[in-house]
Amino acid sequence: MAFQYQFDQQWKRTVYCGSICEAHCDKEVVINGWVRRRRDLGGLVFLEIWDHTGLVQVIFDPEASSEVFERTKELRSEYVLAIRGKVRRRPPGTENPKLATGMWEVEAKDFSLLSPATLPPFDMNEVDKVDENLRLRFRYLDLRRDRMQRNLRMRHNALLFTRNFFSAHGFIEVETPFLTKSTPEGARDYLVPSRVNKGHFYALPQSPQIFKQILMVAGFDRYVQIVKCFRDEDLRADRQPEFTQLDLEMSFITEDDVLALIEEYLAGLFWAILGIKLEVPFPRMTYAEAMRCFGSDKPDLRIPFEIVDLGEIFSKGSVGAFKDVLSRGGVVRGLPLPGGASLSRRELTEWETRAKDLGAGGLAHFQFKDGTLKGPLVKLIGEETRAALIRDAGLRDGDALFVLASDETAASKILGELRLELAEAYGHIDESRWAFLWVVDFPLFEWSEEEGRWTSVHHPFTAPKAEDLPLLESKPQLARSRAYDIVLNGIEIGGGSIRIHDPATQEKVFAALSLSPEEAKERFGFLLDALASGAPPHGGIALGLDRLTMLLSKNSSIREVIAFPKTQKAQCLLTGAPSPVDPRQLDELGIKVEAEPEEGAESEAAS
Ligand code: ASP
Repeated sequence: MAFQYQFDQQWKRTVYCGSICEAHCDKEVVINGWVRRRRDLGGLVFLEIWDHTGLVQVIFDPEASSEVFERTKELRSEYVLAIRGKVRRRPPGTENPKLATGMWEVEAKDFSLLSPATLPPFDMNEVDKVDENLRLRFRYLDLRRDRMQRNLRMRHNALLFTRNFFSAHGFIEVETPFLTKSTPEGARDYLVPSRVNKGHFYALPQSPQIFKQILMVAGFDRYVQIVKCFRDEDLRADRQPEFTQLDLEMSFITEDDVLALIEEYLAGLFWAILGIKLEVPFPRMTYAEAMRCFGSDKPDLRIPFEIVDLGEIFSKGSVGAFKDVLSRGGVVRGLPLPGGASLSRRELTEWETRAKDLGAGGLAHFQFKDGTLKGPLVKLIGEETRAALIRDAGLRDGDALFVLASDETAASKILGELRLELAEAYGHIDESRWAFLWVVDFPLFEWSEEEGRWTSVHHPFTAPKAEDLPLLESKPQLARSRAYDIVLNGIEIGGGSIRIHDPATQEKVFAALSLSPEEAKERFGFLLDALASGAPPHGGIALGLDRLTMLLSKNSSIREVIAFPKTQKAQCLLTGAPSPVDPRQLDELGIKVEAEPEEGAESEAAS
């Protein structure tokens, strides 16, 4: 009898489960893996054995060895085995075409039980239906599935391609510190107390922004890093407190160099990972156009309709409500919906209610059917206006047109959101497309009500457009930056900018941000000193690798491509982090905790 739990040379696999094929037919093999399923059938025992390459069926026949057959009785799902046996073709009619190895089975001669397993808390074959918190709590079981194995292996391949690509393009990877000073990305920092400098804290980096700029000043020319960044923000499906960026910086370049390099990189990545040829260059759109036509700074170009401006048409017409809004400086904008002429009255009312929920005063509609325009407002407008509406909104017979009048910001926001929801509801998103887009010419500043001052849209080191420099003092709201974002299928996957490389411009930007020279020196003095020491023109970008691999693998949550992610409450259900710590540790740090610890991850996991 094989000695239990021991693993020696004779039980080492000669072949992976998922690779069994014709070449092994009639040969003796040893496989190592987990029992995924056990079935007793008419005096025979069938085991499905899994390793990271796939599943194979193993059959135990009492006639081959009754002693071995007896021992199979103790086996259960997730036990770890080494099995020796002969590969044979499955009898006709018993093949499983859904399984890569489905033509074959291993006729077991002997096996060694390497490790028993506790009963899994869920059926390993139905994990997709299991509550996500349970999957995260038992992540080692969840990861023991083909889907999660595939996701993480795809991620590995993407990282490998990335490192090779940038190395071949003259970049070197430099590691920047995690225990550092607060960085300027505008989110909340994670703080780490210092024991040897009591009362002082490190901040975990929100990005390596300052270090990568300093590396350019230091003459490295091209820097890249696949790096963890930390932001203490409220979490959504596509956000994690710690996430991975592809971060890079280049010297003596302009926007076009960064954009062209990233296009070449993404085209290479999609070809290497998915065998898909992307069309480059990607389209570019200014921020102003993106907001006007799509009501978003990350338009989803897979949706075939956009917002149209109807101000001119309604400025002359007889719809009083629209004219009033226009005369107060507002806008009248419309959203055509292909096929929308067949929407019922109830559906139209539901969309109007939705628009109101989003903050609209109302939502008018027109339906263009059999050559005539219909809708409650039609009787108020003349033949000429009707024709102009059909023309300017690009309506085809069978379409609908929603119309909204309000101030410009609200109109963009509401119609932008409705565009996404209408497209989703009526199946207008072309899922087969990879719609990349560069959004450029972002505003440099945005007004912060909370802080009562202008703040950076990107970060304070982003260069203003040269022609907008005079606006920094006079009309900061109109100053545009040399920042760019890359968008894929309506999701922002990265952003960057050309940086300020001369101290004079940097001072002007700090002044516009109401940062006094003393404050600027206190927060970023070392960067200012570095910039003053001979800084090359430089710029860069950071891409979110979690989001990118999520999209590459067609997942809808980044948690599916992160081995050990946190929940929306920033908890790790596997380890129970964050957790209270030993009072001695706090003493050493000179920290007193006043708040009672809230319910932690462990209790969430237990519920
Ligand atoms: N540091 C920026 C960010 O993390 C990216 C960049 O400007 O390169 O968003």
